[in-house]
Amino acid sequence: MTMKKLGVIYGGKSAEHEVSLMTAKAVIGALDFSAYDITPIYITIEGEWVCGELLTTAPSNPEELRFAGKGQADSILEFVQRASDPTTRFDIVFPVLHGPNGEDGTIQGLFEMMNLPYVGNGVLASSAGMDKVTMKQLFHQAGLNQVPYAYITHFEYDNDPAAFVEKCENELTYPLFVKPANLGSSVGITKAKNKAELEKAIDFAFQYDRKIVVEQGITAREIELSILGNDKPTVSIAGEVLPTKDFYDYSAKYVDGTTNYAIPAEVSEQELHNLQQAAIAAFKVLDGAGLVRADFFLTQDGEVYINEVNTLPGFTPISMYPKLWIATGKTYAQLVEELIQFGLERFEEKQ
Ligand code: ATP
Ligand code: MG
Ligand code: MG
Ligand code: MG
Repeated sequence: MTMKKLGVIYGGKSAEHEVSLMTAKAVIGALDFSAYDITPIYITIEGEWVCGELLTTAPSNPEELRFAGKGQADSILEFVQRASDPTTRFDIVFPVLHGPNGEDGTIQGLFEMMNLPYVGNGVLASSAGMDKVTMKQLFHQAGLNQVPYAYITHFEYDNDPAAFVEKCENELTYPLFVKPANLGSSVGITKAKNKAELEKAIDFAFQYDRKIVVEQGITAREIELSILGNDKPTVSIAGEVLPTKDFYDYSAKYVDGTTNYAIPAEVSEQELHNLQQAAIAAFKVLDGAGLVRADFFLTQDGEVYINEVNTLPGFTPISMYPKLWIATGKTYAQLVEELIQFGLERFEEKQ
């Protein structure tokens, strides 16, 4: 069997840098070292690219993937050169990046320019899925149910902060969730229960983005579904997130380990059907490829609201995306392999 050259790209100039390292460790650990020549490619938090040597063993912890002490921070040029040279060219790259610059279509654009096969969503799905405003507008087009919201850029807010706060108070009901438009892992998100908290939450979200979203809070269960595939996507069973705190914030996701998951979620057949339909509709309206995790709210009376999608969802073995497939009988390693195959398939289709 000829070895396939695989580049795993992780880290990144994003608030989700640390999460990406955890995911990269897990993905590399699941790869078949007798089938792939694996090159680790680390993007530092400053945005510098460091191409590592071929891996001979899986890293035993995420820290090893930082190439600590090697001090050979190259520019992106080395990656571009390696990936362009026929002798070192990658058969496929696996971007294991979350948030801006990784999940948002920018790096996918680089791969497209280089005619390089890659795992996961293309430019459009990635960028539309990263921007919560654009995503909501597409979901609206697809007829999906959503909570009421408002959004604004920093430039417009600065012009007249009071007008936007008033608009939020007039059109939406507390509690409100204030979010940077382009992020993930709950970074920059605050739940605001009154005007003073809203103003603070808006300033906080603007530390992460020049555009923010304010959503009406909903009292509902949080249900997530995984979608896998290209033109004929398959959808998983439903999983429920059961945060033990006020909401599913960054520390609940990655630090406290206090969040519980119910897999499968206890939902009726009708509810599951509605959730799965909505998940596929969200994937299709984005023109997704490879993988998407769709996050929903399910109210007590069975109403389904889509919250968002993630085009490069958390992907450690304990993350919801793989857990939902593992619950249906796939192994984590099989899932990684399938994603690589879907990436190659999508590339072939475009040739
Ligand atoms: P990730 O990409 O990691 O899933 P994110 O940063 O994109 O997260 P959201 O999923 O939009 O953020 O929101 C994070 C969490 O905040 C949700 O899982 C939920 O607990 C809470 N939340 C967000 N919006 C609302 C809302 N409108 N009503 C109630 N809870 C909300
Ligand atoms: Mg998200
Ligand atoms: Mg995310
Ligand atoms: Mg979410």
